[in-house]
Amino acid sequence: MNTTASTITAAPHIPVLIVGAGQAGLSLSVYLQQRGIGHLLLEKHTPMHAWRHQRWDNFCLVTPNWQCKLPGHEYAGDAPHGFMKKKEIIAWLDAFLLKVNPPVRTGVTVKLVQPRAEGGYLVQTSVGDYTADQVVVSSGGYHLPIVPRLAERLPRGILQIHSEQYRNAEQLPPGEVLVVGSGQSGAQIAEDLHLAGRRVHLAVGDAPRCARCYRGRDVVDWLADMGYYDMPVDKHPLREGVRDNTNHYVTGRDGGRDIDLRTFATQGMKLYGLLRELDDAGGTLKFDDTLASALDRADQTYNGINAAIDQHIAKLGLDADGALPPASVYEPVWQPQAVDASGVSPHTELDLAAQGISAVVWCIGFQPDFAWVQAPVFNGRGQPVHQRGVTGQPGLYFLGLPWLYTWGSGRFSGVARDAMYLAEQIEGARGGAGLGEWQRQGELVG
Ligand SMILES: Cc1cc2nc3c(=O)[nH]c(=O)nc-3n(C[C@H](O)[C@H](O)[C@H](O)COP(=O)(O)OP(=O)(O)OC[C@H]3O[C@@H](n4cnc5c(N)ncnc54)[C@H](O)[C@@H]3O)c2cc1C
Repeated sequence: MNTTASTITAAPHIPVLIVGAGQAGLSLSVYLQQRGIGHLLLEKHTPMHAWRHQRWDNFCLVTPNWQCKLPGHEYAGDAPHGFMKKKEIIAWLDAFLLKVNPPVRTGVTVKLVQPRAEGGYLVQTSVGDYTADQVVVSSGGYHLPIVPRLAERLPRGILQIHSEQYRNAEQLPPGEVLVVGSGQSGAQIAEDLHLAGRRVHLAVGDAPRCARCYRGRDVVDWLADMGYYDMPVDKHPLREGVRDNTNHYVTGRDGGRDIDLRTFATQGMKLYGLLRELDDAGGTLKFDDTLASALDRADQTYNGINAAIDQHIAKLGLDADGALPPASVYEPVWQPQAVDASGVSPHTELDLAAQGISAVVWCIGFQPDFAWVQAPVFNGRGQPVHQRGVTGQPGLYFLGLPWLYTWGSGRFSGVARDAMYLAEQIEGARGGAGLGEWQRQGELVG
């Protein structure tokens, strides 16, 4: 593959091009502005598109408000231990956007980023070419919605959507709903439908879960005290493998609470193992017999986190609620039915017509799409190889990815730290040069 491009003389030159104007791109803009480094954000849609257009109506943060710490824009409301709802998140982000007032061009899709033989980068976009000394990819961590090919064989009458298209129960036709995937989105969408009175069938994956509150405080508060959110990826027991972990399911809804799939089952939700196949007739879905082990593992994680909090409390001799060791271990309130002699259980088969399934919501995640970054910086799975966002290709950076540096890198809590670090790297690579010639030419885009 040719990873260099020849000189494009007509293309405008920008010192630092930032691809994507979400919270990551805007955070970097703050620190580049402070350093007087000329830059331009290119945004396919409008700033904060994902928060405005890819979240369901009843969405609320899973992370507590006090963790919303963008540069110069910390949450300042009266509910630091609450969880902002979608409208509040957007209002808070709009206020950030106003403060940052970034140099941004909206409605511009970056189609190619490529190193040039003479140094710097060629950046091809939907509105023409640019060249840049340095490029930062802050295009988010959730690109191509994953939907299995099996979906093409489902009966035509069943509406199928991906989690990023889900808005509310009314959007779906009357009938029962299959939600596939029980990570943060799947578990919360299943709950949303369940609370709206819909009969939900949930294919349970390998996502772990954690308590919302334990020993009188939000678990996030305990983990913060325990230093978890400052742990860099290279100190995590899984090292970079942690980037592939599925998020724990828990919710901030109604002030925050656990999500317990076993309790949902006692209330009528139908649970299944991992989705495996559709039968030849195209009417019955088959699931692996993994439900019991998946629920058990999720509970083990839940209890394990609580036990770690107990240890922390004991070690420091803290005065915490429920201080009656051992940990208040979660005891399962419901157990799946075992498979019978023919290898079938209520959790391994779903007859779509008999159950009146009218819709499927795919909640099995996203694939990265960095095909437009034509530089030798990717691993075998298409993920960038980097140290704190700095790649081996001088002047090419990534920002905003999950566990880029810490747990909070892909969230509101850690992106500021990463953005500041990259701003320092960018400044260093420029030899401390600020706006310089570029500004004098009056090219700053407002
Ligand atoms: C369902 C869900 C729930 C979440 N809940 C929380 C939570 O409770 N707390 C928390 O802190 N975080 C949460 N997050 C994580 C994180 O805060 C969001 O994913 C956030 O949107 C990431 O910001 P970002 O700027 O890195 O990426 P994005 O917000 O995805 O922004 C990237 C931008 O790049 C643009 N773009 C992409 N490709 C191109 C291109 N080729 N050319 C030009 N522009 C391009 C996109 O249009 C987009 O606007 C959640 C994420 C999801 C998906």
